[in-house]
Amino acid sequence: MAQQRIPLGRILGIPIGLDFSWFLIFTLLTWMLAGSYYPAAFPDWPHGLYWLMGAITALAFFASVLLHELGHSVMAMRYRVRVRRITLHIFGGIAEIADESPTPKAEFLIALAGPLVSLALALVSYLLQHWTAHIEPLAGLFKYLGYINLTLALFNLLPGYPLDGGRLFRAVLWAMTGNLRGATRIAATTGRGFAFLLILIGAWQSLSGNLGGGLWIVFIGWFLDNAAKSQLQEVAFRDLLSGHPVVQVMNPSCPTVSATLSLQQLVDDYILTGHQRCFLVHESDRVTGLVTPQRIRAVPRSEWSRQTAGQVMLPLAQAQSTTPNESLWQALQRMDRDGVNQLPVVRQGQVIGMLSREDVISYLRTLADWS
Ligand SMILES: [Zn+2]
Repeated sequence: MAQQRIPLGRILGIPIGLDFSWFLIFTLLTWMLAGSYYPAAFPDWPHGLYWLMGAITALAFFASVLLHELGHSVMAMRYRVRVRRITLHIFGGIAEIADESPTPKAEFLIALAGPLVSLALALVSYLLQHWTAHIEPLAGLFKYLGYINLTLALFNLLPGYPLDGGRLFRAVLWAMTGNLRGATRIAATTGRGFAFLLILIGAWQSLSGNLGGGLWIVFIGWFLDNAAKSQLQEVAFRDLLSGHPVVQVMNPSCPTVSATLSLQQLVDDYILTGHQRCFLVHESDRVTGLVTPQRIRAVPRSEWSRQTAGQVMLPLAQAQSTTPNESLWQALQRMDRDGVNQLPVVRQGQVIGMLSREDVISYLRTLADWS
């Protein structure tokens, strides 16, 4: 869902972005606020004011969601857990936490921080609503923010993983059993139960007259079910891959090419004649970098005869690497974190092979079929 996003800049070093689906929900929310919430509460306003306040209120709602996600992020950073980015989308927002929390306590506090921010915002909005009671547009704005932030906090506290309440539940299970994967499995399965319940409630609502609101609940349930399912799948992958070291899957016969070889020759003589996806580049008997199809494609075809492997290679000193004994799961996580599709396998400063994402995935299929 976070593939197509519009960057909005950074807060506390974390990239903030809008998913394209955000515009749909922003428009719907503005329309709902301008068309029903404000006219019902304040019947005498000029028409334009409804739309202005609708848009301002919708923006303030998403600012609240952003603050909720920043709450998770600040707590994560306190425990040195990296936050990859925050994305606002059709179902609100998400702070993508790059690593697992180090301890159940950290997990518990990271999960709790978001709803606490929302509760604090609800309280502040409630106070502001009373102080601004004589200015109708402001009172209307703060009334809505108080209501929506309270709803946000309570909904997120439902104990269905991956909602915050489900993460709290998982942290407690983790603390009790000492087993994170087992805790994730139980919390995500419970999460699927909750998602299913939401879908049922939504369907029942749609059938009893509240079509729009009911369908919306069905969508949220469906979204949560998918998120819980992918967590269960991740745990399964992790279980399968954890016991297997990189050396089992790496390609030890990675072709080595000279740094002076032109890209055209590399493509003609190596890529088009075999299945190799990666090449080590050597200069005076030492491997100094690697070239991947991705890096070659970044060079215009007309330049291929002039540019050399040495010019487009990724210097080994800058490349992330893995070791033969690292688990495949950790190596895969490393690729995800750095957005690469292969890692050189290094032992005592020597490259002894390459590990590609494709090899790991195909090995994963073999494991799933045979174990
Ligand atoms: Zn949250």
